[in-house]
Amino acid sequence: MITLEMILLTKIMIERARRNEIKNVVINALVHANVPYLPVDVKKICKSYEFIRLIPFSVQMKHRGMSYEEILAQCQTKDACADYYALKDKYIIYYNDIDKVAFINSNRYRWSIAHELGHILLNHHKISDKMRIFRFNLSNEEYNHFEAEADYFAQLLLVPHAALLGFKISTSNQLQIMCKISSPASRRRYYEFIEWKSHLNAKDQYDKRVFSYYSYYIFKRKCKNCDAGIVQRYGKYCPICGFKNTLEWGDGDKMKYPLLETHENGKLTKCPICGEKSAFYNNNLLNSWDYNNAESPDAFMNIPDDIDEELPFN
Ligand SMILES: [Zn+2]
Ligand SMILES: [Zn+2]
Repeated sequence: MITLEMILLTKIMIERARRNEIKNVVINALVHANVPYLPVDVKKICKSYEFIRLIPFSVQMKHRGMSYEEILAQCQTKDACADYYALKDKYIIYYNDIDKVAFINSNRYRWSIAHELGHILLNHHKISDKMRIFRFNLSNEEYNHFEAEADYFAQLLLVPHAALLGFKISTSNQLQIMCKISSPASRRRYYEFIEWKSHLNAKDQYDKRVFSYYSYYIFKRKCKNCDAGIVQRYGKYCPICGFKNTLEWGDGDKMKYPLLETHENGKLTKCPICGEKSAFYNNNLLNSWDYNNAESPDAFMNIPDDIDEELPFN
């Protein structure tokens, strides 16, 4: 259970330099897995490392002929655990897919997996020389420190603020849908997101990198009229058919995010909180995306930044 106290603890315990190191580890994991879309595919990120295996409780139970009680006893938790096999230099993450209500349907398993991945990529097992990060085989101080770091990693990974900024998110429910996290987690993360937005720093290197990583996802559009898939940041006109106001966010798969809209034309001209002109936009954080180097899957095309908004073709 992650309590408010633990969140506060997280902020108190992790020093700025260490937070920046963890941010780098997060970026490296995202780049390594190449999954630039939301909700973050945490399983794919784990599987992108050949030294990590991801095993659901049900598979381990079948494989070992164990009961649910036995696997809980083995893992010492209902959530998830990560074991390090030093001889092979490999990790196994076991996660609960048996208690569907508490862990799967609630999406809590995603946070659990991200948390364990945090322990692994932050080398907690190696640092502590332990097979498992467990309350009773570490000092309180070390355990709490590792837990705070793993939670911080999970939060950065699953709730990428700079990516969320591309969408009109005004409730914790919307954040919950986009990030696919549990309802209690989404309420806490929503407050953090609002807090982060209230002192947005367009020069922040981490935010820039996150935004850049997700920019294709943020700016993809589908034309309601001609069905064209494009990547477009500005303008109300479809560059294919020339119709106005026919561009919708996404690739036509709107059912996934029925609640969400992007900011008009992908622009963030006003701060969604205070209505002030957005520092984010004005400081050109949005320009950090490199159109020329953006990957362009078949059905999509990049169009230049400076497209004439009023009369694209005539
Ligand atoms: Zn942990
Ligand atoms: Zn069109």
